[in-house]
Order: sequence, then C-alpha cells, then structure tokens
Amino acid sequence: MTDTPYVPARRRPWPDSASRPVATPLQPSVVYATSDPDALDAQYEGQTRGYSYAREGHPNADVLAQMLDRMEGASGGIVTGSGMAAVGAAVLGVLKAGDHVLGADQLYGRSLRMLAEDLPRMGIATSLVDPTDAGRVAAALRPETRMILLETVSNPTLRVADLAGIAALARDRGILLAVDNTFTTPRAIRPFEHGADIVIHSVTKLLAGHADATLGYTVARDPALNDAMRVAATTWGVTPSPFDCWLAERGMLSFDLRYDRAEETAARLADHLAGLPGVARVLYPGRADHPDHARACALFGARFGNMLSFELEGGRAAANAFTRACPGIAFAPTLGDVATTLSHPPSSSHRALSAEARAALGIGEGFFRVSVGVEPFEVLAEEMTRGVIAARVA
Ligand SMILES: *Cc1c(COP(=O)(O)O)cnc(C)c1O
Repeated sequence: MTDTPYVPARRRPWPDSASRPVATPLQPSVVYATSDPDALDAQYEGQTRGYSYAREGHPNADVLAQMLDRMEGASGGIVTGSGMAAVGAAVLGVLKAGDHVLGADQLYGRSLRMLAEDLPRMGIATSLVDPTDAGRVAAALRPETRMILLETVSNPTLRVADLAGIAALARDRGILLAVDNTFTTPRAIRPFEHGADIVIHSVTKLLAGHADATLGYTVARDPALNDAMRVAATTWGVTPSPFDCWLAERGMLSFDLRYDRAEETAARLADHLAGLPGVARVLYPGRADHPDHARACALFGARFGNMLSFELEGGRAAANAFTRACPGIAFAPTLGDVATTLSHPPSSSHRALSAEARAALGIGEGFFRVSVGVEPFEVLAEEMTRGVIAARVA
C-alpha cells in the first residue's frame, strides 16, 4: 500500500488565470464559505454582496434572472424551479386566506388545477371567466378579488385575451393583473407595457427552448411584491438548479433567432394546412379567419408566434392515423422546443374535461396543437401532408 498525499476536500486548488472564460461558469456549489462571522454579518446586512446557500440564490440563477428582466423590461425577477413554481411563488407570495382570484378559463392545465383544488384548500376563493370579453370579467369581479390571472393567448384554441380592457378594470379596482407570458414571449408582447403587475413564464418552453431544462420566472412591477415572491420561493423551496439555469442561459442566447424562424414557419404551415382537404379548420392568430385576429394585430403587431392548432375531420380515428403517419414530428405534450411537437389536447392536457366541456371549447377528437420548431418549412409540410392524407382514409 502506498501513501498518497491527502488533499483536503475543500482546499482543492483552483487554477489561476489572468484571462476570464467567455462562457458563464456552471456553479453547482450548494453552500458558500465566508472568512469569519463579521464578514457573514456584513453579507446578511447587505453591506457586501455574496451567496450563502443555493436555495436562497446562486450565480447561475442571477445571470438568468438578469437576462429575463431585460427581456421583459423589468428588474428584480425571480427564477424558479419550473413554470408552475413561478405561478406558485406568485400566489404564495402575494395572496392570503379570504382573497379571491379570478382566472382565465383556458389557463394551462396545472394552473387551472391550482385554482380549482389547491388555493380553495388554503382559504383562497377562485373562479374562472372568459378573458376575451372584459365585460364578463367585470361582472365576475368580487369585492375581495385581489388578482386576475390570465394568459394572453390561450391553450389550445389560441384565443387572445382582451388585455387592454382587463388591465383598465384591474387598475380602476386596485386588483393585481398577473400575466403568464409563456406562449407569447417578450418577442410578441411585454405585458408590463400593457398594464400587467406581475409577469410569469415557464422558461422550460420557448425561452430555454431545447426541452432539457425545467424552469420558471416571475417578476412584479412593485419591488415589494418581488421581495414577497422571493421569500415565498425560498421558503417553499421552489428555487432552481444551477445546471438548469446554465442550460437555459445557453438556450436563450439563440431565442430571438429560433423564435423568428419558428414564427415564420408557423404562419406558412397554418396556410398550408388550411388548404388541405380533410382539415376542418386551422387556428392561428395571424390568419384573417381567426376570431381574435384584429385584437392579435393590435397587441402583437405582426408577431403571431409559433403555436397553431387545427382540427381534422374524422375524429379520434383520423387523429390516430395522423400521428402514426408523422413519425418525424414528436407526439409529445410540450411546446417551445427547437423541434416541432404535436399535442392532442383531448387525450392529454384536456383529458380531465368531459366531452361536452371540450366541445364547448371547440376541442373535438380530431383537434391538434402544434408547437412549430426550427425545421425547414418544406420538411414539416411534407410530413403533415402525409399525415392528413392518412387521416382521410382512416
Ligand atoms: C408549461 C406551462 C406552464 C408550466 O410550466 P412548467 O415549466 O412545465 O412547470 C405554465 N404556463 C404555461 C402557459 C405553460 O405552457
């Protein structure tokens, strides 16, 4: 047996370098050491800046938060361990028992569940309303309404909320308007410029963009609300992993390019699908036949996004035949990946609804939602045309 020199685990040398890396270093350390109690005091009192424990903050989350802040025209935003963690931090940081939350009726499925099941259990009342009609929203407000939660473009029918009308109501009544901007991204709309008080993202989707990191982000206009959300995120432990933040930062460096490419392809694909026999209808806010096209133009300019939906004639049998004939497009319930993904709301996100409730939303068994990625248009058009032809003979 030979004696190897023992290098104390926490005194491993870090190589000296006069130059600095161009890529952000990944910093997985859970804990940070200070020199003495006075130095720790100074840090906790805010006289010096430093980290102490990763759940409370770490460099990779801070770098990512600053990038997201800049995109949304905000400051002090909080990166969380998922998009739902961001929704959770916002409600846990801001609401209390006795408050009422008015949610849009086509929110992301888990957000709907949080409103239907989890908040009421904590003494927070909730109800849902159609956000395309500010008149209905006004009628649904209660004296104790503290927050309105909506997504500017709904999933999966891509209806566009009356953001201007709802923001005016919220301002008049002193109600916080929280906007989940995941589908639209700051490339299409920056909700703070339209009266939002809180902006939320699932960074997992288009922003990180590679289906390999699960993260969220929430930011308020009011710094006091940011503090409250940060405390809630830290206490409930919904803060993010350094590695996911590092991956998301890397993905976000190409966000603009990916978004622009996917958006252009989505518009062409929507028109292509609309021209195929066997496609009953196509939903894309950029098309003149979309029910909210005028509002989409007013809110987004010419930015109509990468999401489109369509309905096949022939119901479930056609839907099965379509997905089997399109093996090049992942049939997977997510969105925002570099690769195009296809989801079938009746069997995934909306399976908990009754067939009648789905029909009321216009979601039949032949309904698909497409998250368009960065593949060439021709590749996607060929694949989907094959799918539509297979669906017609199913
Ligand atoms: C995916 C998604 C969420 C939840 O995000 P996760 O990162 O999956 O937790 C919230 N809102 C919208 C609109 C989403 O698409």
